[in-house]
Amino acid sequence: MTDREQILRWIDDEQGAIVAFLQRFVRARSPNPPGDTLEAAAVVRAFLEENGLPFRIVAPQPTMPNFVGSFDGGAGKGKHLVLNGHIDVFPVGDGRGWTRDPWGGEIVDGKLYGRGAADMKPGTTASIFTYALLHRIRDRLKGRLTLTAVSDEETFGPWGARWLIENEPEVLGDCCLNGEPSSPYTVRYGEKGPLWLAFTVRTAGAHGAYTHFSKSATLIAGDLMRDLGALSDLPVDLPHNIMSAIQAAAPAADRAMGAGAGDIVSKVTLNVGTIEGGLKVNMVPSECRFEADIRLPPGMTHETVMAEVKRILARYPEAEVEEINFNPPSYCDPHGEMMEIVQRNVEALAGHRPTPIVSLGGTDARLWRYKNIPAYVYGPFPRGMGSTDEHVEIAEFLHVVRTHALSAYDYLMRG
Ligand SMILES: [Zn+2]
Repeated sequence: MTDREQILRWIDDEQGAIVAFLQRFVRARSPNPPGDTLEAAAVVRAFLEENGLPFRIVAPQPTMPNFVGSFDGGAGKGKHLVLNGHIDVFPVGDGRGWTRDPWGGEIVDGKLYGRGAADMKPGTTASIFTYALLHRIRDRLKGRLTLTAVSDEETFGPWGARWLIENEPEVLGDCCLNGEPSSPYTVRYGEKGPLWLAFTVRTAGAHGAYTHFSKSATLIAGDLMRDLGALSDLPVDLPHNIMSAIQAAAPAADRAMGAGAGDIVSKVTLNVGTIEGGLKVNMVPSECRFEADIRLPPGMTHETVMAEVKRILARYPEAEVEEINFNPPSYCDPHGEMMEIVQRNVEALAGHRPTPIVSLGGTDARLWRYKNIPAYVYGPFPRGMGSTDEHVEIAEFLHVVRTHALSAYDYLMRG
């Protein structure tokens, strides 16, 4: 039996244990905010200990621990692959709209339900089992394998992967593989970057009958929001190979992220997430504040967007802007080595070739790309992600585990 056959055999034989691990992991609550992941981390820790796997805990914020583990292959020098996943999940709120217990890990008709059952406890489980299975054959492996299972991803927080990247050089490696939801039909090599801006409009304000006394802050804000829509027309400057990869992937992006996704991958988008203005129906508002979530595609810079925002704002002397958050867009080679390996494994396992795409949403994979380390994302469909009845199909989850384990093996053995 070859090593690849052995890996697949183990996954088949141990399916029950793999699914049971995911179930325990989903049942262990880790909503962020607030971001306390101790219960879910205990599940990971118990597994790593029971399987005699090397790891240490890095917890600059005690309630948000991160796991870092590494081992060297026994068959000589090679490349260093880093597996990355997060253990925190979106919050649930009051659970309204769910037809299953969000923390139940219930399995119904081949689907496992719960918060984190798509984003991203299946992907993190794939990383953990990849680490465990390859550890069994470490004597025959080349290079080095590192596992990172982190907290504080869902809020772009500072205590998870961001901390590791800046303070633990061991996690950098030559390539990163991540199991965030992508859909089995796509592999993500890049993602858009969020720029969050708060706009405040101030006027004198007046009694609601005396509209001749003061301009209305809410009406000005409405005009300003409409004008900001022009950001979507900003031309994007991308290398030719990336632009052609994005264009070729439009149908796959629609399939993975919903119809229309392919159109906005390479455009700036604007969402006004919150608006507050005025005190009372019969007063001309003296203040209106709204927050905009602007997403920059690869090839778009902060400078270009802010210059356009300032140009628009020049027409509104009553308005000012403040930046709340920014993460640059990121991408790596759409046809890089790990991309080809994942594509080939998916083709062999599932009979289709996944398409390289840029993701609309953000992941920790960007942090590796910022360091010029290629980072690829392959995971299940984002079913119910950040919404209700989040779930994963068990067969798809096991396919992701197989793909990660074989791809990590292939990458290391290429030396
Ligand atoms: Zn995620």
